[in-house]
Amino acid sequence: MSRLATPIRRNDQVMVIAGKDRGKRGRVLKVVPDNNRLLIEGVNLIKRHTKPNPGKNVKGGIVEREAPLHASNVQLVCPECGAPTRIGHRLLGDGRKVRVCRKCEGVVDK
Ligand SMILES: [Zn+2]
Repeated sequence: MSRLATPIRRNDQVMVIAGKDRGKRGRVLKVVPDNNRLLIEGVNLIKRHTKPNPGKNVKGGIVEREAPLHASNVQLVCPECGAPTRIGHRLLGDGRKVRVCRKCEGVVDK
């Protein structure tokens, strides 16, 4: 089992801090741990030209879809203070390890 280099998880709210979509916010649809990439809703859209495939009910044409973005290009948006932030970890009294916001010390994981 490999350790994730990014503390960002699926369904987190993130903000893009580099690249053409800098400043955009979105929800993480998928984390690709192998190469530290994230699929973020509405961010890093690419146009795919698809051929019609009637068997699979796929229409031909240009479809926009998300392409994975490297985790180093995004920051987690803290649900407590609403700011993009770096993440720390804290061990709770019940033994749970949670992610905390470095700015407001709010707990990210509920
Ligand atoms: Zn915060």
